[in-house]
Amino acid sequence: MTDGLIGVVNAGSSSLKFSIYAGDDCLLNGQVDGIGVRPAAKARTGAGEALPPPDLSAAPPATPADALVALMPWLQEWLAGRRLSAIGHRVVHGGPNHAAPARVTPAMLDELEAFVPLAPLHQPHNLAPIRAALARNPGLPQVACFDTAFHRTIPEVAQVFALPWEMAERGIRRYGFHGLSYEYIASVLPRAAPEIAAGRVVVAHLGNGASLCAMRAGRSMATTMGFSALDGLPMGTRCGQLDPAVVLHLMTTEGMDAEAVEALLYRKSGMLGLSGVSSDFRDLLASEKPRARFAIEVFVHQVARNVASLAGAMGGLDGLVFTAGVGENAVAIREAVCRACGWMGVELDEAANAARGKRISTPGSRVGVHVIPTDENLMIARHTRALVR
Ligand code: ADP
Repeated sequence: MTDGLIGVVNAGSSSLKFSIYAGDDCLLNGQVDGIGVRPAAKARTGAGEALPPPDLSAAPPATPADALVALMPWLQEWLAGRRLSAIGHRVVHGGPNHAAPARVTPAMLDELEAFVPLAPLHQPHNLAPIRAALARNPGLPQVACFDTAFHRTIPEVAQVFALPWEMAERGIRRYGFHGLSYEYIASVLPRAAPEIAAGRVVVAHLGNGASLCAMRAGRSMATTMGFSALDGLPMGTRCGQLDPAVVLHLMTTEGMDAEAVEALLYRKSGMLGLSGVSSDFRDLLASEKPRARFAIEVFVHQVARNVASLAGAMGGLDGLVFTAGVGENAVAIREAVCRACGWMGVELDEAANAARGKRISTPGSRVGVHVIPTDENLMIARHTRALVR
């Protein structure tokens, strides 16, 4: 390694994840959870061995930005004289124009601040640590990597809502998210699944947050998430696609205010709300409770239906890729989705699926089905290195 180390920061409302990369090698992974309540840090080497975590008890961080600053002395010690060449940050919203990651300047931060109303739950927490790092070390380059950027290739017909035109001009349109994950999958597809890489592929990012992306030759053509990361598939605690009249009903007839509706749709719905058991698919799969099973059936139904919808947007389907926590690990859910997609030419190789193979469709399947682990942090590290080189 001649060109220094890259830091990667992924800040949420109450957590901050960080990694250090040398080239494509991850050397360090850590996270601070419970920020603002009971912050606790943990750290591992890239190979997964636990490290003594930073001690935050002297001055418990109240915000993710505080957490980044509080981590610095521990990181300096861990770096033992080596230097970071840049920090790459995950930023949920790049607005309608950012189609690629960008080197952060104070002016650009002000521009990104304008998208806070479009992603009030995420954007402020993404931006504050960038400001904190800039203030502390103005000479260290910072790069913003947007979850929306990969979807800027989506044709305009698939980006607009059928609302009055001026609303699209005001930014009320579909943006799509999980873009760093989809971009990583697109980058490895030619090697991992060469027979489908140039074709029409639906990538299923199924994790705690879940969405699908229609890719033609590695470019996003449509996606299930829209204006926010609430749309599309039902998720751990988010409702997914919903008739907007339900919101009107809750507010006008049931007297709920915006805050209560937001809590309902983001935190009390999805798998948790349907099952009454858990938002975690491992718990649902292990549960005997009928509603836990039913929640999984609803999830599978929506995934399969939306695979068909995205295939429709591309005029056909050549490949299906599963990724993220559920997509990479949940054999039973992959099997159920593939069965429901059988009419589109998906033929599952049950043994390969159970054995956690990479290609899980039969040799004769018209649609090639693959399981590919995603790596959003590596994507951020690569972009950051490329931009500061
Ligand atoms: P996010 O990054 O959105 O927080 P992940 O991609 O890490 O989410 O996925 C988390 C989800 O993956 C959880 O619901 C978890 O239950 C599920 N998951 C992880 N491992 C397994 C497994 N072995 N079987 C089933 N589900 C799993």
